[in-house]
Amino acid sequence: MIVADRKKVPEIRDMIKNHDRVLLVGCGTCVTVCMAGGERETGILGSALRMSLKLIGRGNVVVDECTIERQCEDAFVDALAPRVGDYDAICSFGCGAGVQALAERFPNTPVYPGLNTQFIGILESQGVWTEKCAGCGACRLGEFAGICPLTRCAKRLLNGPCAGSRDGKCEVREDLECGWQLIYDRAKALGILDTFEVTATPQDWSASLDGGPRKVVREDQCIAGLGPKA
Ligand code: SF4
Ligand code: SF4
Repeated sequence: MIVADRKKVPEIRDMIKNHDRVLLVGCGTCVTVCMAGGERETGILGSALRMSLKLIGRGNVVVDECTIERQCEDAFVDALAPRVGDYDAICSFGCGAGVQALAERFPNTPVYPGLNTQFIGILESQGVWTEKCAGCGACRLGEFAGICPLTRCAKRLLNGPCAGSRDGKCEVREDLECGWQLIYDRAKALGILDTFEVTATPQDWSASLDGGPRKVVREDQCIAGLGPKA
């Protein structure tokens, strides 16, 4: 899932300072699962924001909330469209993709981000999410016993650990598992340590963000005769 966390109320209040009618828009997908921008969190934030505005003498600002199933898919944004004209700004509680999808759909309405989008990750334990994939565009998990060195080694090393690993922890942060210790332990358990005797090839970063914003086109999923949308 895409993992995000919420901006602080004063920061959101500051972002919308030039507006009198603001619609807070939650998203029902990834950010709901990571408890950052779903219906519940958007409702709580709405109450906190109204209170905060009142405290600085701006209690006249209208702050309403709504949540749609997915902000990153235009068909779901249809449900929001009839309401947008009633507001002079939107604060999105979707991930960065959702915020930009709303900005594209509503070119005359300022759209602000209510969340800080963090990473692609998993729920590690209740209330704790950890990063697992940097979206490099050329997945190499098959070479590294299913553990991503690009994401989980702080130095993105592809040919074994640095000299800083101690007791399985990374030298960058005490609470961080050394990615290469994890790779080693799992490869040993799988009996594939010998596959690491060859030098790993450099990563092709042109498949990542370094090659500019990326696009996936699935011709088999495009509507016949219309081709991929540019
Ligand atoms: S190799 Fe690339 S796609 Fe695969 S998990 Fe790592 S960052 Fe993600
Ligand atoms: S200690 Fe491990 S995870 Fe940290 S930078 Fe070195 S090899 Fe990578």
